[in-house]
Amino acid sequence: MGGTALSQEQIQRVVDFHGHWCPGLAIGIRAGEFVLREFGRAADEEIVAVVETDMCGVDAIQMLTGCTLGKGNLLHLDHGKMAFRFYRRSDEKGVRLVFDADRLGGPSDAMAALQQKRAAGTLTAEERQALDTHRAEWSERIMGADLADVFRIRPAAGPVPRRARLMQSLACEACGEKTMETRTRRFEGRTLCLPCFERLDRRV
Ligand SMILES: [Zn+2]
Ligand SMILES: [Zn+2]
Repeated sequence: MGGTALSQEQIQRVVDFHGHWCPGLAIGIRAGEFVLREFGRAADEEIVAVVETDMCGVDAIQMLTGCTLGKGNLLHLDHGKMAFRFYRRSDEKGVRLVFDADRLGGPSDAMAALQQKRAAGTLTAEERQALDTHRAEWSERIMGADLADVFRIRPAAGPVPRRARLMQSLACEACGEKTMETRTRRFEGRTLCLPCFERLDRRV
């Protein structure tokens, strides 16, 4: 019952990679822990992660699971949700984890108020210390809970995302830079990279 099964060394490697300890990282560590327990580690591309956020926790997922942006087995959807999907190619098993702060009692009201002050840039030195204490306590709660209480865990819908492929590159006809074919746009008879397309499209 309860609490992370990861070693202190595993956790420290994640913190070193990310650069600091924070609640978001704790969430990613628990998601990575779930993958290691259920799927094992992705030495190559056999496990695929689809992350629906680009927050701190994604670093922990990359470090622990071996699903990385560069290898192409970590896909980012910019949905702004603390939700993570994992697929295993061998048996097409897929799960979706959604972080559920409410099940852990959520961050305290005091912490929420201090975070708002921080966002507004009006935090005093004392309040900053208090916020650090709250964040450490919240992180501990995330690390100390049962995985089934940290996430809502459901089968993932949809097929396993396709394997990373080497795509043909085309030269953008505005800036000349080589661009993966699937990322180019046709505009007024020319093949353009996305930044050039967006720049020209806005002028019309
Ligand atoms: Zn962080
Ligand atoms: Zn261009």
